[in-house]
Amino acid sequence: FADRDGYIWYDGALKPWRECTTHVLTYTLHYGVGCFEGVRAYKTPRGTAIFRLQEHTQRLFNSAKILGMKMPWTPAQLDEAQKEVLRANRLEEAYIRPMVFYGSEGMGLRATGLQTHVIVAAWPWGAYLGADNMERGIRVKTSSFQRHYVNASLCRAKANANYLNSSMALNEVLRDGYDEALMLDPEGYVAEGSAENIFIITGGVISTPDVTSALDGITRRSVMQLARDLGYEVRERRITRDEVYVCDEAFFTGTAAEVTPIREIDNRPIGSGSRGPITERLQKAYLDVVRGRSERYAHWLTHV
Ligand code: PMP
Repeated sequence: FADRDGYIWYDGALKPWRECTTHVLTYTLHYGVGCFEGVRAYKTPRGTAIFRLQEHTQRLFNSAKILGMKMPWTPAQLDEAQKEVLRANRLEEAYIRPMVFYGSEGMGLRATGLQTHVIVAAWPWGAYLGADNMERGIRVKTSSFQRHYVNASLCRAKANANYLNSSMALNEVLRDGYDEALMLDPEGYVAEGSAENIFIITGGVISTPDVTSALDGITRRSVMQLARDLGYEVRERRITRDEVYVCDEAFFTGTAAEVTPIREIDNRPIGSGSRGPITERLQKAYLDVVRGRSERYAHWLTHV
């Protein structure tokens, strides 16, 4: 991924992709203290637009604050950097990755005088869980790895170190032939996927776990709003593993995953074993919004 043409925004300026390297003694590489975002830009009838740019940038600043990292830029500067990266790389549609990390100005956990560095990269990225699966749904397995305990990892931060757990969970289930992992919180209640929030639908009511152990997903918030505006009841509450087994429909949400139906959990079919009707309606509503086909939510798009 490092050996390619293009530009990455690195500490305030666009640099050629291949030159965007960092030293092996980079503090974040050793200890995981860093935070990042995942943002998507879509082609719309009025040109390329970034979905909920300000909300993503705000979450990045919140993550840095939680980790105690001093940000050297303003939110407006980082919004502009993300637009600049799309233009410089001539990307009509892209996944955007801002990341904040400490440099190699010192070593050891007690290092002082560390500088906060910021990069913004972007690249084309299609359906994260496969184009066919957006219609067919995915096969999910409950992970043997728990999602974080709230006072061990700080889940409101999209912190680099939090992804050790996600990577372990995902790779375990991929090895066993499933598409994605479902992670339970330390008390055994449903938390989220390795990089997605989860929703279940039972008797027409849509439920999602509250965000104690799960990330406060921007797609999650958007889909909750779309569902309520369509007249559905949406509840944030504790959900048990067996409730997922017997629900009518289930789906994951995420910037990368968008709205991905779940067709099977722990080798049990969910509902009819394919994308459910309410899931399909919400998926379509979401994709209409991000692709600029909805006037009502046009304020969620920032044109590049
Ligand atoms: N949970 C985790 C652990 C994630 O990494 C992501 C992806 N950012 C999500 C949920 C979904 O969040 P969002 O909708 O903001 O992309």
